[in-house]
Amino acid sequence: MRLSSILAGALLCLSLPALADDKLRFSLIRTATTKPVPQAMVTASGSWFSGDPSNHVAVLVEHGQQRFLFDTGLGKQAEQQFKQDMPYWIRPVMDFQLGKPARQQLDEAGIEIQQIYLSHTHWDHLSGAPDFPEAKVYAQAEEQLYMRMDSPPRVLPSQANAPIRWHQLPLPEKTYGPFQRSLDLYGDGKVVLVAIPGHTPGSMGMYLNVSPERRYLFVGDAIWRVREVADHSYKAWPARAIVDHDCQQTRAGIEMIRQAQAPGLTLIPAHDTGVHDALGYFPNWIE
Ligand SMILES: [Zn+2]
Repeated sequence: MRLSSILAGALLCLSLPALADDKLRFSLIRTATTKPVPQAMVTASGSWFSGDPSNHVAVLVEHGQQRFLFDTGLGKQAEQQFKQDMPYWIRPVMDFQLGKPARQQLDEAGIEIQQIYLSHTHWDHLSGAPDFPEAKVYAQAEEQLYMRMDSPPRVLPSQANAPIRWHQLPLPEKTYGPFQRSLDLYGDGKVVLVAIPGHTPGSMGMYLNVSPERRYLFVGDAIWRVREVADHSYKAWPARAIVDHDCQQTRAGIEMIRQAQAPGLTLIPAHDTGVHDALGYFPNWIE
């Protein structure tokens, strides 16, 4: 082979576009919504005179050839799980209108899921996990222990005892922004899970760094609405007394989220319909 053709080949290799393997995009799969409730019942700084519904979403993430879900939204068995385990006194507040479960939407699109990461194990995040019996479901050890110890209305036995392929996900002591423990899932800085304990002991957030200018931080239920960060407020009482495992630690988590704010970073609480509406829903992709 002549030297010129070897050089041409080398140059061709150098000029090839980066493999699609590092491309990152995501889509919000809306599975259910709640009836609008006064904002003051959701956050302490909210108004009694205007209300908004809450979303239950699964987040579909595509990193190169890999696809996974972050949370599952409400699944195919949601109504049965609710009927079986949700205490009567809180049903009017927790009630929902079921849309298409994530499994159904993904099946219709021919998309397979092998991994699920959970922000935490509360019923409205775990509900769809049993619909993916082939997938590995990841949560921190302390979160899985918490799930075994807690009870309705936060954790539902019909979900906790369902056949799910649980796997433990240790988040090492590695600082990422204001967060003390983190895991760079693919080692390229694009998908980074961070510990935000408080709402539950093993609650996790997820950074999706689509590009240096467009970054997204999913914060689970550490906050319910982005206005909590701007207003220096918190979930409304008594909601926080019912849902937050450790109120003081949850407040510390909100402070970390506040510190994480940066130009180009979008905060995405798990139930903030206003933020979700602005991003659009599956099959719309953010890329
Ligand atoms: Zn929760």
